[in-house]
Amino acid sequence: MKTHVTQLSLFETRDSSGDFAVRVSSRARRLTARVHVGGRVEIVVPVGVGARTVRDFVHRFMPWIDRKVASMRSFVVAAEPVPKSIEFGISAERFAVDWSVAARRSLRDSDGTLRVQAPDERQARWLLQGWLKRAAAERLTPSLLRLAQELDIPVSRVAIRCQRTRWGSCSTRGTVSLNCSLVFLRAAVVRYLFVHELAHTRHMNHSPDFWRLVERLEPGYKSLDAELLAGWRTVPEWVFRN
Ligand SMILES: [Zn+2]
Repeated sequence: MKTHVTQLSLFETRDSSGDFAVRVSSRARRLTARVHVGGRVEIVVPVGVGARTVRDFVHRFMPWIDRKVASMRSFVVAAEPVPKSIEFGISAERFAVDWSVAARRSLRDSDGTLRVQAPDERQARWLLQGWLKRAAAERLTPSLLRLAQELDIPVSRVAIRCQRTRWGSCSTRGTVSLNCSLVFLRAAVVRYLFVHELAHTRHMNHSPDFWRLVERLEPGYKSLDAELLAGWRTVPEWVFRN
């Protein structure tokens, strides 16, 4: 297979949003338009098809291309590099994010609006990730300790981690590690994770004894466990992005 990639300025009359790449393909049987994520448009042209035919084709399919470009652009907005707002499921809180480019990094929380200044998106995200960890510690640690006291299960230390792999863990010495992304989940699901980890301080395994204890502390644990497992989908993409 041989494919030529060419950029032709066939469509210079179109406005700035219409940046087409024209690719001449020896495999293509007919003219096709492809719209990629982000709204980039590619016209695939069989060998030997003239510029005029391509132009007519694009003209004919312009309404379809425009619709497709709009939807592919909005798809990218869903995974924005710096979020415009942050919502915590655990506490039903919503923070607006107002970020601007500045040489020095700073993050200030003024009445539910996070004012972020950073040289670029990556560093803005880094500031928000740091803020998330602190915000998560404030919301998770006291409620875990309260529950531990209620259930009369000793906890020596609570650590907040922002990791991709697990919601929580527990050591034999009574250190409970919690994932900062738990704040994106419902309070009932977070409470179940607390119960799960606290039960592990008694049984460091998933034995029938462990599950019996979990069920005693949280009778509806099965559906909450399923919701916790699916909960990764509710964590915004920026949380783990470098
Ligand atoms: Zn477990």
